[in-house]
Amino acid sequence: MSSLSNSKRPLIGCTTYRKQVNQLEVIGLNAPYIEAIIAAGGIPILIPLSLDDDAWRAVFDRVDGLLLPGGGDIDFRRYTNEQQAELRAIDQDRDRLELALTQTAVAEQKPFLAICRGHQVLNVAMGGTLWQDVYSQMPNAVMHDFSSPYPRYHIGHTVTVTAGSKLAHLLPDRTIPVNSIHHQGVYELAPGLAVSARSEDGLIEGLELPDHPFAVGVQWHPEGMYQHYPMMLSLFKGLVAAAANGNGARGQGDNGAK
Ligand code: MN
Repeated sequence: MSSLSNSKRPLIGCTTYRKQVNQLEVIGLNAPYIEAIIAAGGIPILIPLSLDDDAWRAVFDRVDGLLLPGGGDIDFRRYTNEQQAELRAIDQDRDRLELALTQTAVAEQKPFLAICRGHQVLNVAMGGTLWQDVYSQMPNAVMHDFSSPYPRYHIGHTVTVTAGSKLAHLLPDRTIPVNSIHHQGVYELAPGLAVSARSEDGLIEGLELPDHPFAVGVQWHPEGMYQHYPMMLSLFKGLVAAAANGNGARGQGDNGAK
């Protein structure tokens, strides 16, 4: 995508986290997400979680694509009445904003890449449910939570990519080693979503919407891998390319392809 002129480089809206660092409250996003979007030819735009409905809608209308990054757990009340495990780092503003953004991006065909928590947000936004804790709930689960002290690029397990899926077009092999930094996972698949990858224990590690320009979810962290495994940048390139196409369709650029 480096051949795109600056005026056509797509804007990728990225949701953020809020956390306390020393005595400061910080709104931010881990640098590798931002750097991966830039490396793929996009321009990241950070979206604060506290925006009201009019404000996030104004951002949504201006950006060409979205990134839903990793983060803490979704409040179980968003998909069930029953708490089954200890949840981590619930943020009601983040749940509210990301679920609304995702539902709008699905309805209005806005390209998005959903990573880790984002992959789970996609399933919940469309009516699916989660394993609240993979280890204590899912029979025969392999280890999925390689958080610190493991480096972010540590290979946790492999995934098998579904032939013919959008993900299969982005990645070169059917069986792919991935990192794994999560304790929750997709349980009941939402209507309309297709499974594009599973780990060896059967856990759903890739999701996509077949009739959408680019709605791709992955349970692993490609932003933490691409410096060591360059093929993982292709997920961000796919997002940026789909977002750039949307640009043209709205008449800001070359509309001649179709
Ligand atoms: Mn995993």
